[in-house]
Amino acid sequence: MSERIYIFDTTLRDGEQSPGASMNAAEKLRLATQLEKLGVDVLEAGFPAASDGDFEAVANIARKLKTTEVAGLARASKDDIDRAWGAVQHAAKPRIHTFIATSDIHMEYKLRMSREQVIENAVEAVRYAKSFTDNVEFSAEDGSRSDRDFLCKVFGAAIEAGATVVNLPDTVGYAIPGEFSEMVRYVMDHTPDMHQAILSVHCHNDLGLATANTLAAIQEGAKQAEVTINGIGERAGNTSLEEVIMALHTRPNYLPMSTNITTEHIHPTSRLVSMITGILVQPNKAIVGANAFAHEAGIHQDGVLKNPMTYEIMKPETVGLNTNKLVLGKRSGRHALRSHLKDMGYDLSDEELNIVFKKFKELADKKKHVMDEDLEAVVNEGILRSSDIFRLEYQHVSSGTTVLPMASVKLSINGREVRGAGYGNGPIDASFNAIAKLTGTESELLRFSVSALTGGTDAQGEVTVRLRENGMIALGKGADPDIITASAKAYVNGLNRLEYLKTNPVQAAQVL
Ligand SMILES: [Zn+2]
Repeated sequence: MSERIYIFDTTLRDGEQSPGASMNAAEKLRLATQLEKLGVDVLEAGFPAASDGDFEAVANIARKLKTTEVAGLARASKDDIDRAWGAVQHAAKPRIHTFIATSDIHMEYKLRMSREQVIENAVEAVRYAKSFTDNVEFSAEDGSRSDRDFLCKVFGAAIEAGATVVNLPDTVGYAIPGEFSEMVRYVMDHTPDMHQAILSVHCHNDLGLATANTLAAIQEGAKQAEVTINGIGERAGNTSLEEVIMALHTRPNYLPMSTNITTEHIHPTSRLVSMITGILVQPNKAIVGANAFAHEAGIHQDGVLKNPMTYEIMKPETVGLNTNKLVLGKRSGRHALRSHLKDMGYDLSDEELNIVFKKFKELADKKKHVMDEDLEAVVNEGILRSSDIFRLEYQHVSSGTTVLPMASVKLSINGREVRGAGYGNGPIDASFNAIAKLTGTESELLRFSVSALTGGTDAQGEVTVRLRENGMIALGKGADPDIITASAKAYVNGLNRLEYLKTNPVQAAQVL
């Protein structure tokens, strides 16, 4: 019999703490729906006390999800717990996740509290959360650098106060697998009433060991793994969901554990996260990188053709990388589009379908085959960004070897149309200058990159920009067969994210 492991996804909370990765409410809801389809057991939807925007996003997700537990994060204070409960209370399965730091360095310098005070605080917070729901998780921030016996004492007290899950985070990504598994074993053996709760782990990837540490902990009896899609998160990121899942899936004899994840949804979910957050997946990333299943070397290819198992330990189809994709073309009708989008996980209203269908037709005029990646970009730009303040309505650029590059742009700003022009040292620079002038923004362009969304010379160009304004950083993405238009879309998207950050600052770093 394989042991059941619970997957706690924190892409929307810890993942959003990746620099520049803020998501708007519609994007969060879309991602939450996809994560439920993927089969995560618990979804940490946000930190409701952080901002009104975060509260609303968590509340929307709580109302929408049917089978997945929805957790809201809260510091060990009544105000935070009230906010968290306010946001998750309408969920089919709500969870309050409260935390306090337990390492000497955090208690002394950050909290300025004694060990006794920390225990008292933790117990009070868990009891208070318990007055709202039976489903309460307690985390010991910086757990991996905490005194073991003290940690067991805190966990024991939290369990006695009613915590159903106690989480041991490696907040700063400091642990080494052998050491971490010893620690997990120690906690399992020495925490009073440990059998009444589930032990969870939450690892960070600062030393590239997040997945290794998580698997080591699972082997010692941890039953919940906290993870993110593509491993995004604070600094070097979190444990990546796809790596843990595929390790369990590929090595069942060594790791006899099961989860509720449908592995075929891994790749589409990874693409969605990358598209929404603007954070590209590195090509050599395990499981979801562009090269993860590409066998470049000739000798490998020969072996793979004769029998894939010579070099492939996993099948690409298992993670949802389908080799013969269904594509849509110019003649595909509304019905075909709707049913294909539905297969991809997008359930659109009639009004939304109208918008997407129009954009799809425009694209199909320029591009022979419209692939899943193209449709994702169309839906993302047409629907998920509908609440944007700035929208690009029109742009025209002129450039060449003998003219000064110039762009004329029409934007809508909160529904009001404005027009303007700008010059630059190239067409993209000119277009950015025109947009900056119209929006009255003063962001600095830190990075600019272009890639092709699919294969083929008629592929859509996908542009990513990284912008900074007043110390805030935002990523923007845009796709279009014309890379100058894609660039303008990405720039406008980045500016919208900066506007969102101005009113919804991401809570200060170093949470769990
Ligand atoms: Zn974390």
